[in-house]
Amino acid sequence: MASVFCIANQKGGVGKTTTSVNLAAGLAAQGQRVLLVDLDPQGNATMGSGIDKRALTRSVYHVLIGLASVREARVRAEAGGYDMLPANRELAGAEVELVDLDARESRLKTALAEVEGEYDFVLIDCPPSLSMLTLNGLCAAHGVVIPMQCEYFALEGLADLVNTIKRVAANLNPDLKIIGLLRVMYDPRMTLQQQVSQQLVEKFGDKVFDTIIPRNVRLAEAPSYGMPGVNYDKASRGAQAYINFGAEMIERVRTL
Ligand code: ADP
Ligand code: MG
Repeated sequence: MASVFCIANQKGGVGKTTTSVNLAAGLAAQGQRVLLVDLDPQGNATMGSGIDKRALTRSVYHVLIGLASVREARVRAEAGGYDMLPANRELAGAEVELVDLDARESRLKTALAEVEGEYDFVLIDCPPSLSMLTLNGLCAAHGVVIPMQCEYFALEGLADLVNTIKRVAANLNPDLKIIGLLRVMYDPRMTLQQQVSQQLVEKFGDKVFDTIIPRNVRLAEAPSYGMPGVNYDKASRGAQAYINFGAEMIERVRTL
């Protein structure tokens, strides 16, 4: 049965999509069967996986509303070696339409049950909000991976997210755990980043992943070529870090 993880942080621009796409590719490169779910109406994970979001006939929107199954809506992301449940702007409408539907928080969970035997990992790229879409992601998941930059306000935002995860665990999904905090866009020359990184380890102990993702321009360039950084320039430091992170995730899943 697949391990289902949300990549979440209610802040925008913290590296959720980059982590989702490159972890998916990093796991696939190590022989894992991966489904990446794009749960953000911006569709960045979709485009960054080489799938044209403007050309979709079915997407995660149709799955949430009950107009398509996961099998009908998924597509192959050849550029990354994984399957993808893609998204585009239409998904923004789901936020409103879900309100009138039954079991509105658990629709993604129910839909994914159909394919859970086909994958080792299902990764869900969440939007930058604590919305009904994110709630669907959190309800469907066994755990949350939180990418964060080691900057001054990082810890403050983290408290809100941790509280939301606790509330979802208490009310909707008792399985839900924080799998770990991933330090991203890390620049070791910045003293402040070193300090915050150290504070994170002191406060959260082994909830902080060993792997650190460096700031690396190849990771930022890759989406414009419709490829995960891991496949765009495999030798780059960013790609290597995400491949290492994939190995760390495989290891961590064994201990869950
Ligand atoms: P989010 O999904 O949280 O909004 P993104 O993954 O889209 O964040 O990242 C925000 C921006 O930072 C993007 O332009 C992305 O290319 C860039 N970025 C993310 N991670 C890195 C990294 N490790 N090195 C350099 N640029 C990065
Ligand atoms: Mg994103």
